Amino acid sequence: MSGHITRFAPSPTGYLHLGHAYAAIYAAAAVLDTGGKFLVRIEDTDLARCRAEFEVAIEEDLKWLGLTWERPVRRQSEHFSDYNGALERLKALGCAYPCFCSRKEIEAEFSASVGAPQGPEGPLYPGTCTSLDDGSRRERIARGDAHAWRMDVAKAQAIIGRTLSFEERGLGPNGERGRIDVRPETYGDFVLARKDTPASYHLAVTVDDAIQGVTMVTRGHDLFPSTHLHRLLQELLGLPPPLYNHHRLVRDEFGKRLAKRDQSTSLRQLRAQGMSVVQVYEMLGLTNR
Ligand code: GLU
Repeated sequence: MSGHITRFAPSPTGYLHLGHAYAAIYAAAAVLDTGGKFLVRIEDTDLARCRAEFEVAIEEDLKWLGLTWERPVRRQSEHFSDYNGALERLKALGCAYPCFCSRKEIEAEFSASVGAPQGPEGPLYPGTCTSLDDGSRRERIARGDAHAWRMDVAKAQAIIGRTLSFEERGLGPNGERGRIDVRPETYGDFVLARKDTPASYHLAVTVDDAIQGVTMVTRGHDLFPSTHLHRLLQELLGLPPPLYNHHRLVRDEFGKRLAKRDQSTSLRQLRAQGMSVVQVYEMLGLTNR
């Protein structure tokens, strides 16, 4: 894996915990030994939940871990026009449609239909707005009805006309490795832009990885399913597919994934309790170089 560019892409919605430390160290180690580049990207599209103080804390914690990264750091909230440009391209291709459903309506629709399909990440969008005609869509947008934008996965696949794949260089959650065919239809018509956030995680991350020249995406198993969607987006937007390197998640003693709301494993708390960086590396089963 010589000379790869990778990134650690946290959201500043809380303090980093041991799981983030593992992800950041794993990413840096995956490229730095071979003369690659390690980037940090701040994923702060959710303006209501992200806070500047958490971003400052992220930098402090990463420095404490002994990591260094390229500057300047890309902050997603400063690049909404890039994501909007991508959304416009998808609309022009005819594979993005406005969705006027509220979360509550989607949930009600889902529970009312017996045997409604469940995807790897929860209930699939029941397709209420998929077949609205163009006239009603335009009319509702013109009258100011709040709407998100969704990917019409079936249309997208028809445009592409072949099965896409990605190259897994790490290990998927079920031991997947090597060439993996993507199955975006398993995930339903996913959101591209929300009513209150102009770009979804999927859209922003795909655009950014390409703009930043990321050649190998390193991230946790929780985001393995998203790769199917990102591959679809890359193909539609004409972006180069990076290699993927998914890694294990750090769990607590009960086998549960660490969460930002649980402060007990936050790096600043561990630091305040006198834990050393060497001990953090040991706890994570990593070598401090
Ligand atoms: N921002 C995502 C997170 O906090 C990571 C995105 C990625 O690595 O693709 O989990």
